[in-house]
Amino acid sequence: MGFAIFESNVEEFEEDGRNYKIIFKTTVSHQLKADFKQAIKTVCKTKVAEKFSRITFILENAGYNNPATAWIKTEEYKKGLKIVHINTFHLSINHRQETTATFVTETARILAHEISHLLQEAIVKALTQKEIIQERPKTSLDKNMKKISGNQDLIPHMRLVREYLRSFVDYIHIEGFAEFSAGQSVNKYSYNPEYSQSLYKQAKNKMIEVEDLRKAHLIKFGQVSRPKKYKNMDDYLKAAVEMKGLLKLLIKKIKENSYGIGEYMYYQIEFQSKTEINFIKIKPFKLIKKYEEAELISGRKPIISFKSKNGYFDYNLSLAEWAATKKVKK
Ligand SMILES: [Zn+2]
Repeated sequence: MGFAIFESNVEEFEEDGRNYKIIFKTTVSHQLKADFKQAIKTVCKTKVAEKFSRITFILENAGYNNPATAWIKTEEYKKGLKIVHINTFHLSINHRQETTATFVTETARILAHEISHLLQEAIVKALTQKEIIQERPKTSLDKNMKKISGNQDLIPHMRLVREYLRSFVDYIHIEGFAEFSAGQSVNKYSYNPEYSQSLYKQAKNKMIEVEDLRKAHLIKFGQVSRPKKYKNMDDYLKAAVEMKGLLKLLIKKIKENSYGIGEYMYYQIEFQSKTEINFIKIKPFKLIKKYEEAELISGRKPIISFKSKNGYFDYNLSLAEWAATKKVKK
């Protein structure tokens, strides 16, 4: 009977009075199954997982086209369900390439990252709020955008730029928290100046990559928004294609690099405060300000600043530069 088949693919176990369920929606090797269960047992003992009395893990083959190793679903967490989905496609590859110990730790870290998102949502509705924040500028923007003198086709393009500048801060806030919380769960961090410096360097390079793209796109946009300056249509179209390519890459890097940048910011605040801080209720802009203070103690140039213009990327400055493109004459 179908029921029996379904049951055989569900495993439940208890750890310190908390319930964990694993649903296998796809067949995996015995070894992968055993090592995966080991990773779950590791994550169960972390502070972030301890906050929930039950968590369900669903293993499914979402294939190569789904770049996510793990994810949570809006319709599930909005209902209060604590479900983490795992892409066995990527997990199987990791399993082949890594030693068992590395696989278990890295998988536990991936799971802790998703559980941290569930915690953010459960306590401060961070994920739901992010959707509201992203939708908010659209309404006011529509009005402002109509005032732009210039090529009408550039309106949705620049609206996207504005949205992603704001999303960058949200990604840093949300993904950075999950990365840092997951890192803590597997005891990733040392708290000393050398370690802080090495994380700083990585985060700085990630920010410079984003900032270089942002500036390159801005310059290209400035050119494309003056179509009359082009000698022929071909040159203009070529520049427009380049501009779109730059924006696509900028969005990709904003998403990818926010994890490491945010992780470092949370780390640095904790490192300089010398005590463990409960970051769950910190708001996005407060996070940037707190980080700026923590970086000043280390005597380094902040990777990001809110409006002091001290950082490699300054949020207010990026908005001012974006707004200035509206004044571009044909
Ligand atoms: Zn995440």
